[in-house]
This record gives sequence, C-alpha cells and structure tokens, in this order.
Amino acid sequence: MSKVKNLEAFVLTIPRDEPYLGGQHPGEGANDKGYFVRQQNRTVYPIMDRTVVLRLETESGVVGWGETYGLVAPQAVLALINEFMADFVVGRDVFDASVVHEDLYNMMRFRGYNGGYYMDALAAIDIALWDAAGRCANLPIAKLLGGRRRDEIPAYISGLPKPTLTERAEFAHSWQEKGFNSFKFAAPMAVDSLAEEMDGLRSVLGPTAKIASDMHWNRSAGEAITEITEMEPHGLWFAEAPVPTEDVNGLAEIARKVKTPIAVGEEWRTVYDAQMRINARAVHIIQPEMGHTGITQFMRMGLAAQAAHLRIIPHATIGSGIFLAASLQASAALEGIVCHEFQHSIFCRNTGLISEGITCENGHYQIDEGPGLGITPTEELISQLSK
Ligand code: MG
Repeated sequence: MSKVKNLEAFVLTIPRDEPYLGGQHPGEGANDKGYFVRQQNRTVYPIMDRTVVLRLETESGVVGWGETYGLVAPQAVLALINEFMADFVVGRDVFDASVVHEDLYNMMRFRGYNGGYYMDALAAIDIALWDAAGRCANLPIAKLLGGRRRDEIPAYISGLPKPTLTERAEFAHSWQEKGFNSFKFAAPMAVDSLAEEMDGLRSVLGPTAKIASDMHWNRSAGEAITEITEMEPHGLWFAEAPVPTEDVNGLAEIARKVKTPIAVGEEWRTVYDAQMRINARAVHIIQPEMGHTGITQFMRMGLAAQAAHLRIIPHATIGSGIFLAASLQASAALEGIVCHEFQHSIFCRNTGLISEGITCENGHYQIDEGPGLGITPTEELISQLSK
C-alpha cells in the first residue's frame, strides 16, 4: 500500500517588496514578465519569489510533499513532471526512492539531460517519495538515511541586503545580538574592494565572527587568487564560487594557492558534479542545494565529500520551506556537516506557509523529529498553488 497512486506539480508565487539580494541598481529595471539581470553577476532574477511544489499520494492515502526551483520559467518543470515523469512514478513503491531516481535519470541521460531543469524536476519527485516513505514508516527521513546524528545544526546568516557597508555591518550585528556569529556577504552587493568590505564587517562584528565571501562565479582564477589573498588578513572563513562553474582547473589552482577554504556546489545536480571537483582537489567545502539535488543525490554528494575528508555546508535558496526541511533531514544524517546556510530574507517570511514551522534561533536550526520531512504545507500555501 506504499505504492504511488498519483502526483502533480504546481507553481507557488510569493510576492516580495524587494528582489532577492536587495534592490536593483540603475539600469536593472525588470521586464514585463518581472525578470531583470544583475549586471555584477550577469544572472537573471525575478522580482517575486517562485517555487515548484509537488504533491504525491500513495494508494493508502499517505501524502508526501516535494519542492524544487521555480525561479525562472517554472512551467518548464511542471511540463516535465506532469506530462511525462509522473506516469513513470505511479505504481512505484515510495520505499524505492533511490531506485526510482536512478531509473528516471537513466531514461534521459544518453540525450544529455543529466542536469538543469530535468534534474530539478527529479529532485521534487525524490523529496516527495522520501517524505511519503517517512510518513508510511512513521519515522523522520534522517532515520531512513542511516540515522539521526544531531538535533540541531549551526546556521550562518547569508546575504546582507543593505545599500551601504555601514548598514550591512549594522544589519549583521543585529543578528549577532540574536546569537548568530557566522556570516556571508555577496560580492555583487559589496563595495568595489572585497578586502574593504571584509575590513568594514570585521571591525563591527569583532574577532570571533566567521565571515565568508560569495564571489558569484565571475572572476578569473588569477583575479580570485589576488582578491582572496587580500581578504585573508581580515580573517576569511571561506571563499565561495570564485570562478565560473566550468573552470574546474582554475578552481583547483585557486585551492592550491590560497590559505582560505574554497566552497562550491550550489549549482550541482548530481554526485558526478561533485566527484570531478573532489578528484581535482578543487574544493574544501561542498555546498549541495536540496532544491536541485533531491535527497538521493544530496546524500551521495555528502558521502563522497565525507570519504574525501571534506566539509559540507549546505546551500539554502528561495523556497517555501519544503526543500529546506529536506535539507535539514539529510544534514541530520551526515557526519561531515559543519554548518547550514540561513536565508533570513526568505525564511522569516515564507516559512509561515508550512505548519509546525522550522525553527532557527540562537545560531542554530532545530531539526524536526516528526515523520517524513516533519513539516506540512498549510492550507494557505495549498490555496496559492497554481498550474
Ligand atoms: Mg552562492
């Protein structure tokens, strides 16, 4: 009775006053569909939050929830799931989540669909299968993944969405007063010199604060080595995404030449993305993003990192809280986890849409002990789902 009866994906749109990462710079006006390109990282953003939510039901009536990225053209993911993938999941056992994952991956791998939107769609299905399995077994997902190692995970404050360095430092300090002492600033939103940004933050946050820099993939290896070296006297925790994702050799060169740990991984879909960087000794900290990986690939990446004695600090992005809950469950089962990203600008607003909530207080996430993901979408969230 743990076989899948049906599943369906929907779009969830959540308006926001200011775009993610803060207001637009001059010349970055949104088009009529609400998209704009941030010039400093050349990346497109919508002016609203948007995500894809998936509902799955078993023959015995157990419901599992999944979620994946929906920021840009979410209808592409809906079409993949609702018009194609769902039919190959119906009738499968929710306790075979990893097997279903491999089967769906194999169905498209030889055509080169081993990343991008196809894997996002698969991530949503995968999370819902694991959630349903946990609910069928009346166990939290961490227990199905090999064991619950921890009840809470240290969290770092991500993004300081204020227009000036003084305001960014004050904003970070306000979180320090709430018990958080780890931070990451986004280079596109920083002053021109990253060393100057570090210096300004350090002078307000003091010597014990951990401060990381997200460099948003737009340096050459040589530029990144110079900038990271300049930040190091100010105490740099880790340097994230210094070069374009394709430049694995450049990343390895940076990892050899600076003292600071290099962190990457938010854009990866599978363990193959992780393995090539691990083999090249190009990364010290991996940052899997549950919204792209699903639980199956997140765990495979995490175990590959552990086997190479690397650290894991999961990424956290724009969502309703469903894939964040999945990320916390998987993180509870992995030994190599040292911290988890905390997106205050999303979390504090959007997670009112899930019942039982997710708590992140005094510098730590608390991990739910309920069955499955431990959380459920509220009626308010469900009423906002659309096709
Ligand atoms: Mg990042």
